[in-house]
Amino acid sequence: MLRAFLLYLSNKPRLGRTLDRVPLTRRLVRRFVAGTTAEAAFPVIERLQVADLLSAITYLGENVLTEAAARRAADVYLSLLDEIKRRDLPCVPSLKLTHLGLDLSAALCRENLERVLDRAQAAGRLCWIDMESSAYTDRTLALYEALRRRFLNAACVIQAYLRRSADDLPRLIGLGATIRLCKGAYREPPRLAFVTKREVDANYARLMDLLLTPEALARGAYPAFATHDERLIARAAGRARELGIPPEKFEIQMLYGIRHDLRTRIRDQGLRLRVLVPFGEDWYGYFVRRLAERPANLLFLLKNLVRP
Ligand SMILES: Cc1cc2nc3c(=O)[nH]c(=O)nc-3n(C[C@H](O)[C@H](O)[C@H](O)COP(=O)(O)OP(=O)(O)OC[C@H]3O[C@@H](n4cnc5c(N)ncnc54)[C@H](O)[C@@H]3O)c2cc1C
Repeated sequence: MLRAFLLYLSNKPRLGRTLDRVPLTRRLVRRFVAGTTAEAAFPVIERLQVADLLSAITYLGENVLTEAAARRAADVYLSLLDEIKRRDLPCVPSLKLTHLGLDLSAALCRENLERVLDRAQAAGRLCWIDMESSAYTDRTLALYEALRRRFLNAACVIQAYLRRSADDLPRLIGLGATIRLCKGAYREPPRLAFVTKREVDANYARLMDLLLTPEALARGAYPAFATHDERLIARAAGRARELGIPPEKFEIQMLYGIRHDLRTRIRDQGLRLRVLVPFGEDWYGYFVRRLAERPANLLFLLKNLVRP
């Protein structure tokens, strides 16, 4: 219930503008968001590099309303890629298609995405295309599949809570795709998505089993298990060991500000770990999705709001 309500609020940007004026919210936002500018994100990424961790960078924003905003978002990703290359960081962009104009026009979004993929390819970097709500799944996968042959550096996302993922994943494995497997962070109807944590976790494990096989890897598939769920991370590591899959054939991904304590443990097991670092002014939707994942975050916010 609370999760559904929070995810409903995540689509109300006006509330975000109000929350932005509350200093405490800004402090809690800082836990999940590196700052408002790229200058604030790069030191975080450099610290991750020093700790032998890979990273991804997200310029926060989604559902832009004008063509100019969509082009500006793509331009920001181009300059991020230039900076990543200049600083020689083990970092890749992770972006949302609605930030590049998918709500406005498929052609505009494709043109923006191609510009970013081109620059990423020239810099020798992957580029992750995040998965948004189910309203965008078909269009996102179709665009990914259309561009995949030209851009081997394009990487896609599958959400374990979606019932359709069991059909989408084998097709993507067949393409030898680079695939992030996450649980899914949006509000979806039971018709489309598993509802309970137990069902979502079980489907995550099933999809992991499809991805982490010598056959899938032989086709060129590269899995990234994006989760802070210790049990699932241990499952990926255990399965790879059992099947003799070397640690450089897959990676674990986590979000900035979440389960910091797990990072060194994962790295010290010899696993690859990538931390996604978001920055930008448009933090509201991202932030509320993080609250929805863990009601304790919201309780912390409320407790501090009522404290005299
Ligand atoms: C790198 C990365 C990329 C992602 N990309 C996408 C995407 O493209 N599309 C999409 O729909 N979703 C994406 N997600 C979000 C994902 O779908 C989940 O919503 C999110 O990861 C929480 O689920 P979990 O797998 O960590 O498992 P959970 O079962 O939710 O959590 C496991 C444990 O992790 C910790 N935890 C999880 N979330 C929080 C939090 N917000 N605050 C504090 N602790 C927390 C808690 O200790 C919890 O017990 C991404 C996640 C990651 C890590």
